[in-house]
Amino acid sequence: MASKVRVRFAPSPTGFLHVGGARTALYNWLFARHENGVFILRIEDTDVERSTDESVTTILDSLRWLGLDWDEGPEVGGPAGPYRQAERLTLYQEHARKLLDEGKAYYCTCTPEELEGRRKAALAAGTSPKYDGRCRARGNDLAGVGGRGAAVRLLVRDEGSIEIADLVHGPIRFERADLDDFILLRSDGMPTYNFAVVIDDVLMDITHVIRGDDHISNTPRQIMLYEAMGLPVPYFAHIPMILGSDRSRLSKRHGATSVLAYQQMGYLPEAMVNYLVRLGWSHGDQEIFSQEELVRHFSLEKVGKTPAVFDPVKLEWLNGQYIKHIAPDRLTALLRPFWEAAGVSQQELFQGDEAWLHRVACLFQERARTVTELASSSRFVFTGKIERDKAVAMKVLSNEAKARIRALLPEIEALPTFTAATLESLFRMRAEALGLKLVDLAQPFRVGLSGKSVSPPIFPIMELMGWEAARRRVEEALEEEG
Ligand code: GLU
Repeated sequence: MASKVRVRFAPSPTGFLHVGGARTALYNWLFARHENGVFILRIEDTDVERSTDESVTTILDSLRWLGLDWDEGPEVGGPAGPYRQAERLTLYQEHARKLLDEGKAYYCTCTPEELEGRRKAALAAGTSPKYDGRCRARGNDLAGVGGRGAAVRLLVRDEGSIEIADLVHGPIRFERADLDDFILLRSDGMPTYNFAVVIDDVLMDITHVIRGDDHISNTPRQIMLYEAMGLPVPYFAHIPMILGSDRSRLSKRHGATSVLAYQQMGYLPEAMVNYLVRLGWSHGDQEIFSQEELVRHFSLEKVGKTPAVFDPVKLEWLNGQYIKHIAPDRLTALLRPFWEAAGVSQQELFQGDEAWLHRVACLFQERARTVTELASSSRFVFTGKIERDKAVAMKVLSNEAKARIRALLPEIEALPTFTAATLESLFRMRAEALGLKLVDLAQPFRVGLSGKSVSPPIFPIMELMGWEAARRRVEEALEEEG
């Protein structure tokens, strides 16, 4: 086994990248980076019917979005990987041939119907339904089989036990007698999952297999293959599943489970990474980690045995923390498509220069939990049509409040400069003269400008909008029936 740490993430491309898969990828990546090792991406696409190129693309996009870069690939001198099992079929066939020739595997010509019939009969008779080994005698000899396809099975000794020294769960024991001569190659020459995984883990010098604990039941079979080939077994770390709020396995029922859905909902990749890493790993009480801190502190010893519950509210909170601190130019770049999706036209986006957009983004950054929320809450600053909350308008824009606004408009108009500071002092002066609180004047303005009762402070917003746009918006509100 290689001395340098070598790990792999091995998704089957049968759908989008699930947050559970992303966490597995992340743990592998962090472990590799922490150990100065190698992180390999291997697409397990031998299930031709269910694998799609579209899914491969989605998985790669998801990993790239999360910043999980992989190191190696089949194209020598070209871009790194990923490896694809469908391109490696001859390797599996060669290794099956070797096991056949060494008497460690044998051809099996039992048909699926025969196997199913015998399985049912065994169950009815109360005996073990496992494969009865009747083709063992055939060995590597296909004589007399004719055109009939033959699968290849591993010859399994059935005395004693197998122990997985799992780095997360501790020792797990399996009785060999419970395992049967499982199939390595199907009669059409395609490898089974257990066979392809082991051959690849061997050929790629994998030192640590870090994967979901739904694979624990496969591991004794994989260990038997290492034994048959006389090779050392890698370390195994089986990570507990992620659960939904009802403690059943996380699925669509609990909300979005696709990594890219979170990108589309306005989550930042670093928040997603930070959230995922904490689902099963801890470092004291620390909640927020930079990527550099994660690489420095990550260890498999701190991965817990008990499944973690996915909490969308905490993820949203964490995302809000990251949004608060993101650099304005990155935030603005992220926001553009979200502003467009919120109904801000290209023309409206281009009316302000980049610095103006940064200022809009920064004003709303403090309270937004997602980029989507930031885009929709700041949408009104652009001069596009806004939605007015009727109930709020009824309550705040009383005739009295409207009259006060009307009286203020010419005074604002007469200000020598139209800035947040001049506006604020004018509003304060007016409020005091009327015996009101600042909020009594500011709130009707806020509702007039934004259509809503909550927004960041309105004076800088008005400065950003410019007097003409702000006045038009407020006048629009004054004309509405209250
Ligand atoms: N292809 C398997 C899966 O997607 C992973 C296999 C492994 O990590 O050993 O579940």
